[in-house]
Amino acid sequence: MANTQFQYVKKFEQDDSLLLNTWLVVRIDGRSFHKFSQIHSFEKPNDKRAIGLMNQAAKQIMEEFGDVIIAYGQSDEYSFVLHKSTTLYSRRASKILSTFVSLFTGYYIYNWKNFFPDQELKEIPSFDSRIICYPSKKNIRDYLSWRQADCHINSLYNTCFWCLVKSGISEKEATEQLRGTFSNDKNELLFSKFGINYNDLPQINRKGTVLYRKIEEIETIRNDTNQKSISKKKKIIMDHIDIISEKFWKENPILTE
Ligand code: ATP
Ligand code: ATP
Ligand code: MG
Ligand code: MG
Ligand code: MG
Ligand code: MG
Ligand code: MG
Repeated sequence: MANTQFQYVKKFEQDDSLLLNTWLVVRIDGRSFHKFSQIHSFEKPNDKRAIGLMNQAAKQIMEEFGDVIIAYGQSDEYSFVLHKSTTLYSRRASKILSTFVSLFTGYYIYNWKNFFPDQELKEIPSFDSRIICYPSKKNIRDYLSWRQADCHINSLYNTCFWCLVKSGISEKEATEQLRGTFSNDKNELLFSKFGINYNDLPQINRKGTVLYRKIEEIETIRNDTNQKSISKKKKIIMDHIDIISEKFWKENPILTE
């Protein structure tokens, strides 16, 4: 057969299957979104439409891939955690990664008009992506805490930065003024200069977005026999809660299921 003399090239493909029994994290991040957000007139520091669009794309990823147990998003990034028992694409790294990032980009473009009805999509958005194996519960919780802490740091900084810029000083001056400041300095600046209590700002900006599955019990009563039956269905919950402290994990034993 003609094909058999060529088929050996397949053997050049390298095995990239990921370590068994580890949680897999796919993180995608918008490419040059600093510029993309300017071109599309994102409100600063936090454009609600843009966040809504990211969250919608992430939710659709979770609907498509049942093995994603929790996802966390902020700014132009999203992390998807796959259960450690996942056998998706035989755990092949490039297969999982490329499918997630292209599907996410597709959803982002497809849903654009619903979130930005008055803003034409002027440039094709793209995302970079990586996949990481985490062997322990502590690692995976620390990973998510790291991203949420990053959200907090950026959100506090950006709130100060844009308050300063909107008050009339240049972006360069605002950067200068914030250089070397600690978080209590920034809180103080917001309160004394702009009358803003940082902790009163919307949770979605301070905490980012958490998507996770929760079992919902649906009670149905049969018409003929009046018998009650309870069916359980997993529902995707979208929230803006703290995932650094113990509380969320006690209420949602996602990693032990
Ligand atoms: P890279 O390609 O290296 O990721 P980048 O320009 O995307 O570069 P990031 O560090 O990922 O840099 O930062 C994303 C930028 O996108 C933020 O600095 C912010 O300016 C902008 N951005 C993302 N989401 C929003 C939003 N909801 N509202 C306003 N601006 C946003
Ligand atoms: P996987 O997700 O593993 O890639 P797949 O179903 O996409 O699974 P491929 O081996 O990539 O399988 O094969 C792609 C299939 O798509 C082809 O076998 C063919 O049936 C179909 N296909 C692709 N391009 C065309 C086309 N232009 N016209 C008709 N069919 C096409
Ligand atoms: Mg980056
Ligand atoms: Mg980016
Ligand atoms: Mg980013
Ligand atoms: Mg194919
Ligand atoms: Mg193919």
